[in-house]
Amino acid sequence: MDVNKIRQDFPILAEQVNGKDLIYLDTSATSQSPRQVIDAMNDYYETYNSNVHRGVHTLGTKATDAYEKARMKVRSFINALRFEEIIYTRGTTAAINLVARSFGDMVVEDGDEIVVTEMEHHANIVPWQQLAKRKNAKLVFIPMEEDGTITLDSVKSVMSDKTKIVAITHVSNVLGTINDIKEIAKITHEHGAYIAVDGAQAVPHMAVDVQDLDVDFYSFSGHKMLGPTGIGILYGKADLLDKMEPIEYGGDMIDYVYKTDATWTDLPVKFEAGTPMIAEAVGLHAAIDYLEELGLDNIHDYEQTLVGYAYDKMSEIEGIEIYGPDKDNRAGLITFNLTGVHPHDLATALDSEGIAVRAGHHCAQPLMKWCNAHSTARASFYLYNTKEEIDQFIESLEKTKEFFS
Ligand code: PLP
Repeated sequence: MDVNKIRQDFPILAEQVNGKDLIYLDTSATSQSPRQVIDAMNDYYETYNSNVHRGVHTLGTKATDAYEKARMKVRSFINALRFEEIIYTRGTTAAINLVARSFGDMVVEDGDEIVVTEMEHHANIVPWQQLAKRKNAKLVFIPMEEDGTITLDSVKSVMSDKTKIVAITHVSNVLGTINDIKEIAKITHEHGAYIAVDGAQAVPHMAVDVQDLDVDFYSFSGHKMLGPTGIGILYGKADLLDKMEPIEYGGDMIDYVYKTDATWTDLPVKFEAGTPMIAEAVGLHAAIDYLEELGLDNIHDYEQTLVGYAYDKMSEIEGIEIYGPDKDNRAGLITFNLTGVHPHDLATALDSEGIAVRAGHHCAQPLMKWCNAHSTARASFYLYNTKEEIDQFIESLEKTKEFFS
């Protein structure tokens, strides 16, 4: 990983913010895109912008080709068995909503249980709450350990013959906890239930093999993995997707429309009503090319060195509280509070130094309650961050602390 060379690919990293060089520590919210992604999308708009699956003209064929090639790329990237198992969505949120609405409504019945955790992003809790309300089912929470992890025994302790779906994040966007999805999937299946995984914070940072994990559904977003906003992926096992009803209707997803009824086309387009995100699929393809060229294992290792370095330095600051597991067992993000400084004041002070961090509840209010905090600050790291940036971040933290004391 030649980080200085990598940084040259990201135009935004040359920006100044409030007169200072930008230090971008908010990748968990959205990542930055390399020139390769931006160029691929520009090329689409400049040379073959056209609708897909419709026209027989040259541009239409080229656009369809690029859109479907991107799907093949996603398939191989997460090692799905078939391209039909890759559904384009607007993002992780839309993907989870699709599963909860379509699959959830199909399998969950009165009195059933849906297993979740308190560390879920709102995107992986509210759709299940709504499903539970529609079906008179119950949400059951896997108890968390003090360090923000969950044990397999805790998972087993909440499973019953009423459990229909386990909806769980692969990596927590607040705690950095990495859940053992492979083992949790095993336990889920032993109980005859299905597992739907929120992979928004995992896929950008580690190699994910959906067949090896043996998950039923897996969702993630393009904009957190160097790609554009407005596109995400729902992976689902083909036999399950096949049985599911679409939740959106219109162009492209139909087989035949009669005056008072209609039939659906095959997977995956059955779930992709209307003109899809074509430029975004092209951009996502370029993003995956970029990640694969660096190697997901290398990216993961590099992030581990960054987060370990930051964790050690932050731990030395008096009055800091870091949430989640120890530095050797967490993903590349650190959520924290500084005694006496509101996270929003902290983020504003850091912003005046050109440093972007997230402050707030991180779309995880039940988890904030668990942390006993209203809000927190979060620094998150990616392949384009450096130790020097972390040094500057620490220096600014110390300065801010002094200012407010
Ligand atoms: N799940 C997790 C763990 C996330 O971190 C996020 C975004 O922050 C989401 C889901 C929602 O992703 P999106 O807003 O791209 O749909």
